[in-house]
Formats: sequence, C-alpha cells, structure tokens
Amino acid sequence: MRLLLPFFALFCFSLSAQTGHPETAKAAAAIEGKVIEWRHHLHENPELSNREFETAKYVEKHLRGLGMEVRTGIAHTGVVGILKGGKPGGVIALRADMDGLPVTEIADVPFASKAKAMYEGKEVGVMHACGHDTHVAMLMGAAEVLSARKKDIEGTVIFMFQPAEEGAPAGEEGGAKLMVKEGVLSDYGVEVAFGIHINSQTPVGQVNYKPGGAMASVNSFNIVVKGKQAHGARPWASVDPIVTSAQIIMGLQTIVSRQLDLTKEAAVITIGKIDGGVRSNIIPDEVTMVGTIRSLDNDMRKEIFARIKTTATNIAAAAGAEAEVTINEGYPITFNDPEITRRLMPIVAATAGEDNINLVRAITGAEDFSFYAEKVPSLIVFLGGMDPAKNRDEVAGHHTPNFQIDDRGLKLGVEIYTNIALDYLNGKAR
Ligand SMILES: [Zn+2]
Ligand SMILES: [Zn+2]
Repeated sequence: MRLLLPFFALFCFSLSAQTGHPETAKAAAAIEGKVIEWRHHLHENPELSNREFETAKYVEKHLRGLGMEVRTGIAHTGVVGILKGGKPGGVIALRADMDGLPVTEIADVPFASKAKAMYEGKEVGVMHACGHDTHVAMLMGAAEVLSARKKDIEGTVIFMFQPAEEGAPAGEEGGAKLMVKEGVLSDYGVEVAFGIHINSQTPVGQVNYKPGGAMASVNSFNIVVKGKQAHGARPWASVDPIVTSAQIIMGLQTIVSRQLDLTKEAAVITIGKIDGGVRSNIIPDEVTMVGTIRSLDNDMRKEIFARIKTTATNIAAAAGAEAEVTINEGYPITFNDPEITRRLMPIVAATAGEDNINLVRAITGAEDFSFYAEKVPSLIVFLGGMDPAKNRDEVAGHHTPNFQIDDRGLKLGVEIYTNIALDYLNGKAR
C-alpha cells in the first residue's frame, strides 16, 4: 500500500478541484463548424513527413489572420505561433503534428484523400491515417479562441505545428527532435509542453492519460555475429554463426523475462530480421540480426542496452565467435511528468467531465512528443475520436487505409488545448 497511496492521492483526489470554462465551451462551439471544415480540407490534402509545404502555408495564413507573431521554416516546414498575453507570466507550448502517411485511403468519407506522392522512390497514396489533420485543426481552433482572449492571458502561448512526427525520410532530420534543436523551446523559454493525440478506438468525449512513461522509447539495434565458414557436413571445422545467433536470440529473450524488474514498467526486445547463409550445405561466416527495444523507464532502458551487449558478446564468445552490437539512436520515452500531470489533469477533467477521464496503461508504440518531454515537464493525453455508437473492435486502428475519426471529437480538443493554456498561465494549475 505504501506504493499505491501517493499515486491515488495525486491522480484521484485532485481531479475534482477545478471547474470548466463556460466561455471556452461557448467559443469552441461557435467555431466547431470551421474546425471541422479545416480538418476536412487537411484530410483531403495530406502531405508526407518533411513535405508539409501546403499544410504549413494553411496554418501560417490562419495564425497571421489572427494577428499572431509567426515563425515559419523551423525544422523544415514547422510553423510556430507566438501569442503574448496582455499580462506578464509563464510560457506554455501546445503541440500539433502535421504529417500524413504513405497509406492509400479506402475510407468511405466525402473528404477522402486522393493524394499521391513519391516515397522511397515509389509512388504511394498519402493519407492522414494517424489523425494529425485533427490535431492541426484543433490547435488552429485553440489559437483562434485564445487570440480573442489575449488581454486576459498572463504569459505566452507557443503554438507548435510540427512536421515529420512519423519520421523524416531516410537521410533527413526532422520532427520534434529538430524543432527542439532549432530552438522551439529554448528561444521562447517554454516551461511546459502539452499535446493531444486523437484516438480512433476511444469514444468521442473520452480522454485517456497515463502519468510517467506513457509511450515507449524506441531504439533499433543490429547484431553482427562473426564465425568461420565451412562445409555444412563438417560443422566442427566451422564457428557456426547460425547456431550462435539462435542462442543469442534465446538469451536476449531472458533479459526482459528474467533480469528486469517488471513490476516497475513493461519492456520489449524483439528481433525482427535475421540474415545469413546462402545454401543448405554451407555454414556461413556471418549472420546479421536487427531488432527493436521498447522501454517505459529510463533506468531500465539503460540496463537493457548494457545487457543486450553483455548477452550477445558473451554467448558469441562461448561459441568461439564474435558479436558486434550497435544500438541506434531512437525516440526517448514519452514521459508525462508526474507533477505536471497532477497539475494539468484537473483542467482536462473539468473540461471533459470527470467521468470521461480514464487512467490507462502505457503504450509500447512511440511518439516524438517525447523530445519535448525530455527537455521540459510535459503532458500528452489521448482524445476520443470514435463514434460512441460503435465499439473499438469494429473500427479501424491508426495507420490503416480505412482509419476514421468522428468529427464530433474535435470540439473537446479545442477546449482542452485552450483551458490548459489559460489555467496553467493564469495560475490555476498549482
Ligand atoms: Zn502515427
Ligand atoms: Zn500520430
């Protein structure tokens, strides 16, 4: 119980401390039709990561129309709106990602995408198959509502419209990592970052959240096992990298199951590809493997890196082979800062209604919002985008060709972005 009590106190008792903003609800309702139109326009005109040229112009035009200071060309196509309130105070950043995916839409909606683009040398259909169109539209809506209330705001709101969340094309930098590198947080003294991700399998009106590690870090890794080639009939003349690789794979599977404290957080080690050998009667001299590591806790992540190296090199050494392990740079853990979560969730609860807030489990997928969360205390929540009359098993998941979002979910997103900025800056989120 010692472990449970503080958690319970933090995340349950404080949810009832706030009331919503009726004026935000009214303003969001008044522009709901426009927000949906923007979303349909964006949905019909999706662009791939680091190619969000028209999307960026669309956002820029809107922000300039609101009289806001605008910075363009950050992290390639990123757009930043800077809204200075009428009174001095803190700085909060609100984030929306802008990119679509190389998916050909088959969803039966009037605003379905027919867009095509080149991706890795091939022509592909392009679709907002992760709902980033809704993020852009909701944040444009919040920018409009907050601009109208500018004189009451104590501090500054930074609207971050970010490219390439899904990953920059090969050989390019991009996304939140590049936004941070190009100063989106440091140039404006951002104290706190807040993001929303729509979810196609959560009913409209519901909000899911998880304090701490909410989405996993991701790191790919390569292992090269070097042995000695020989005739397949004479294994004693070889150092067999195939058998050694099989042992390494089994050894790696005991890291999560037998060496990590899984009561802390979940973790995953997956080998996704093995490559070695040319024919049945030759033992090759080398095998390469690639895999992915997912973690929700930074200490466990470091431990996994070290243990993969130890396991692979020592098993290889036992066989007389050598293993070279490379762990590649990836995405950090999307970490919802516990203190900021405690302060901001009551605002979300007051906006959505306490009964609509769900404490959920972590997701082993990754999100590049993690790069903001690595620098400043942050919170990202998941917003319902599913027709409440349906159930999650009958609707399409993210990144699929018939992915759909119910437009009725957008208004709440506009309200949450708005109220988070207002209440954080005006000192109600203590
Ligand atoms: Zn996605
Ligand atoms: Zn996404």
